[in-house]
Amino acid sequence: MAQYDVIIVGAGPAGMTAAIYAARADMKVLLLDKLAPGGQIINTNEIQNYPGVGTINGAELAYQMFEHTQQFESITFDYGTVKEICEEGTEKKVICEEDGKEFTAKALILATGTQHRCLNIPGEDKFKGNGISWCAICDGAQYRDRDVVVIGGGNSAVEESIYLADMVKTLTIVTMFDLTADPIACDKLRAMDKVTIYPYQDVLEFEGEDKLTGVHFKSTKTGEETRVACDGVFEYIGLIPTTEYLKDTGLLNKFGYIEVDEKMHTAKAGVFAAGDCVTKNLRQVITACADGAIAAQEAAHYVQNLEG
Ligand SMILES: Cc1cc2nc3c(=O)[nH]c(=O)nc-3n(C[C@H](O)[C@H](O)[C@H](O)COP(=O)(O)OP(=O)(O)OC[C@H]3O[C@@H](n4cnc5c(N)ncnc54)[C@H](O)[C@@H]3O)c2cc1C
Repeated sequence: MAQYDVIIVGAGPAGMTAAIYAARADMKVLLLDKLAPGGQIINTNEIQNYPGVGTINGAELAYQMFEHTQQFESITFDYGTVKEICEEGTEKKVICEEDGKEFTAKALILATGTQHRCLNIPGEDKFKGNGISWCAICDGAQYRDRDVVVIGGGNSAVEESIYLADMVKTLTIVTMFDLTADPIACDKLRAMDKVTIYPYQDVLEFEGEDKLTGVHFKSTKTGEETRVACDGVFEYIGLIPTTEYLKDTGLLNKFGYIEVDEKMHTAKAGVFAAGDCVTKNLRQVITACADGAIAAQEAAHYVQNLEG
């Protein structure tokens, strides 16, 4: 079995940055992901707040980051869905869902990000992937010149609504509060002709027999109920950490995020964490990359100390 200095679980911006920094500190690195490298930015239309690149398509930025990791011979990328981590003496082991895939290293960096939150209301399971989507880049084109509802009012909801508004016939935004995204993006969305916004709403049901035909919601201020006909729904109501594989490790807070200190140390020696999966206030590409850099530097120090 190949022996690594550092295994990084998750090849999003945090994991890829950690790989680059660890390789530059002379570490032999395994970068593991259950999917293609890139993380959430693969499905992001435009990133406009990553310094030095102006406006860039998310998949393009992900590709450039991965290309950068491939400049280092000491970084190996592999596919694997980690289902458990454990310790054997000073060795850390990751066990994957795929048959027989296990890897060991002296240190671990956990960078498994977040996943979308669901509403868990009637109709959601029925139309998941067939009328209800969480990715405008992947599925938006299906709704060209059709009626679409976006659920949510934060940064992701507003940015993706601006992207969708260019192609759909009508765009209705239904949100629990008012729009809470960056003011510039909110103003741009509000100024768009096709857009109607329903703030302070509780979504009750996704309606339709064989196909989705509408959304039913109720005002949290007046109790008035509204039904909007639509062909597609995009949900952007927040994120939950992708940390089920750590559930009995004592590394998580009550919301499922990995607790770290300012040096990205978790409660276990030799286990570090970075990016959207850790406790923090701002979950963005730049903060994920910054966490990854710090975690890698700390992991390298840890390994060097072990070796004496
Ligand atoms: C719609 C949308 C728009 C956004 N727009 C912007 C923007 O404009 N600007 C900005 O700065 N940020 C934006 N963000 C946020 C940004 O995408 C994240 O902050 C960033 O991707 C976090 O990086 P990460 O590496 O921590 O996690 P992620 O990008 O989530 O990557 C985590 C990786 O871990 C892998 N993984 C998960 N579990 C396992 C497992 N058990 N085993 C192996 N691999 C696993 C996943 O497959 C994934 O590749 C946006 C996010 C969304 C959803």
